[in-house]
Amino acid sequence: MFYFAGILYSNKEDYLKGVFMMRILEEVLAYNEKFVADKQYEEFATSKLPDKKMVILTCMDTRLLELLPHALNLKNGDVKMIKNAGAVLKHPFGSVMRSILVAVYQLQADEVLVIGHHDCGMGGLKADDIIPNMKKRGVSQKTLDTLEYSGIDVQKWLRGFNKVEESVAHSVDVIKNHPLLPGNTPVHGLVIDPATGKLDLVVNGYEN
Ligand SMILES: [Zn+2]
Repeated sequence: MFYFAGILYSNKEDYLKGVFMMRILEEVLAYNEKFVADKQYEEFATSKLPDKKMVILTCMDTRLLELLPHALNLKNGDVKMIKNAGAVLKHPFGSVMRSILVAVYQLQADEVLVIGHHDCGMGGLKADDIIPNMKKRGVSQKTLDTLEYSGIDVQKWLRGFNKVEESVAHSVDVIKNHPLLPGNTPVHGLVIDPATGKLDLVVNGYEN
């Protein structure tokens, strides 16, 4: 018997074929079929309402995928989690703020946590770091010029932040002062260590 990506192969030939032929999507689908058939979903059963009545905005960093919920004692069903690059709330009327408002008004989230992290890919990121990579993969200068003429500031749009604490405090400020957020909603700001899971408090939302 041979085992790979959630599949048990009865002979070596099929196994090798499986290992070398399978691309990510096929791997995902094959694993998923088994996951559902084995009813592995049962241990995750919960409702769409957050038991801990919080909505968290954090970074998409791979190191936080499991570490953050464990470090905060969160399990399936506890919170609403919004993720993007850097845990940054850039536009007061963009999709992140809309998600926070839906969580607060429709899904019983009473508090908001913004959790940035040390060693974030958005820390110190400049558009000039990304644009050469775009060009290498086929985006032309003409396209970039057209965007600029159309009033889109690509440089600004792609830019990360200098200090994560400042970025978190800024996002907290934008959320806290949003005209559509209930005034008594605590909005906290924290920074997590992606190696140890240690949290440092940046803004205590009960105090402002
Ligand atoms: Zn990050």
